[in-house]
Amino acid sequence: MAPGRVLISFDLELGWGQSGRLSRRELERVRRARELLPRLVEVVEARGLAVTWATTLALGHLDADDALQFAADNAGPSALPELFPEVAELRRFPEAYFFPELVRGLARRSIQDRKPGPAEPGPVEAGPAEPGKTEVGCHTYRHPIWNDATPPDLELEFRLSRQMASRLGCTLETLVFPRNRYSSRALAAARAAGFLGFRRDEFVSNSERRSGLHVALGRAERFLDAFGLARPVRSGATRPGVTSEGGLCSVAGQRFLRLDDPNWMRQVHLSHVRRELRSALQRGETFHLWSHPENFARSPSGALLAFAALLDEIGELKEQGSAVSETMAQVCHAYRARLPLR
Ligand SMILES: [Zn+2]
Repeated sequence: MAPGRVLISFDLELGWGQSGRLSRRELERVRRARELLPRLVEVVEARGLAVTWATTLALGHLDADDALQFAADNAGPSALPELFPEVAELRRFPEAYFFPELVRGLARRSIQDRKPGPAEPGPVEAGPAEPGKTEVGCHTYRHPIWNDATPPDLELEFRLSRQMASRLGCTLETLVFPRNRYSSRALAAARAAGFLGFRRDEFVSNSERRSGLHVALGRAERFLDAFGLARPVRSGATRPGVTSEGGLCSVAGQRFLRLDDPNWMRQVHLSHVRRELRSALQRGETFHLWSHPENFARSPSGALLAFAALLDEIGELKEQGSAVSETMAQVCHAYRARLPLR
């Protein structure tokens, strides 16, 4: 049997992930996440594992003026009030909204570690470069929460994401919707914008709008599931790891990593994660771990240490040939190669 696949994705959004002004507590959490981020990148890269950094692309701007200029150039000055209603906030806390050196570094590496195509294109046209270990995914341009977005809103957000990526020198192939929430309209817009696939969360995602109660119940279930309490036996996936939805690859994000709890909870969580990881790999399934740097922010050292130990285990499974480590883009390419999407 073919080895199972391990995916790791992180959502990079910092302050953009909060709606409106940051409370003092949120700001503190974002600042800690920012401080931790370079170490997090290093921990994954040092182990040679593949990772998808689902990035809110506006983080790549130098500052508020750069963002305003870019948006005015690409969407027209009249779009600015709607795109950036809280300009004062962006100027006041630039460290929460802009992290160009990190985003540029990831973008650079996402290109460097791709397999180069033939140096001299011959009569047979060279195909696109193979996706590399570091993938910059799209977590939209500004992280809007899409419940009632109109097709023009969606089109603009994806267009600005792509334009920003091209300024950073990378291409975007996969997508994580803000809060994992989307509608069939959002899927159609993502497909039209040329994305290959997206990550879904089994507890909160849905292809149509969910009520606040549904989302709250989904979150409660996800919390219980972190400790193996939602379902007595969870084999890594209740649905296949990759399916087709709205003409895109829908890649399950089976395991939301909670590393910021008190140590005993973290240990219970991690032993559950290890069990489901091994069981998914034994079945040759895809197992997808995801989180945010903010989920490490309360006790960064402990969380990082626990994460590094989990990565070491994945690294060993990879060495033994029981797992391959891939980005979301790689999984989507593999899925499409076998099964053309309709
Ligand atoms: Zn997000």
